[in-house]
Amino acid sequence: MRGTGAGVVVLSCSDPRLNPYQILGIDPTLKATMVRNAGGRVFDAIRTLAVLQTIGQPGTIAVMHHTDCGMTHFHDVDVKKALVELAPQEKEVIEASKFGEITTSIRVDIALLKASPLIRKDTQIVGLKYDISTGELSVVDEIKSEL
Ligand SMILES: [Zn+2]
Repeated sequence: MRGTGAGVVVLSCSDPRLNPYQILGIDPTLKATMVRNAGGRVFDAIRTLAVLQTIGQPGTIAVMHHTDCGMTHFHDVDVKKALVELAPQEKEVIEASKFGEITTSIRVDIALLKASPLIRKDTQIVGLKYDISTGELSVVDEIKSEL
């Protein structure tokens, strides 16, 4: 992975079966920053990614999704129902929130990242798909943003 700045930010799912350092062959001593959330969703990570760009200007942001992801099995409606049961006083906020169900391709996340005014246009953005059963990693899309 290359880029104009130093370092790589990896956004991936919180799934404990994923070890991004191992999967990507990243030496833990190298400058790689890990951002994880349910599904590895860009909309949920954009604030953190924007802050990291301000602080470190990473040359590359890699977004890694994986097969058999919980966020493809559990939908926002189920998450909201469970959370409203837990915290009925937060019903309005919960109903108005997105929780990251995956019904679309990782390309949607890549496009969102590329379109975000908070992400530097010279950042290399890479989409990765990890097959949890075979351990195979593949590049979904590689987009160099237009300057
Ligand atoms: Zn997942």
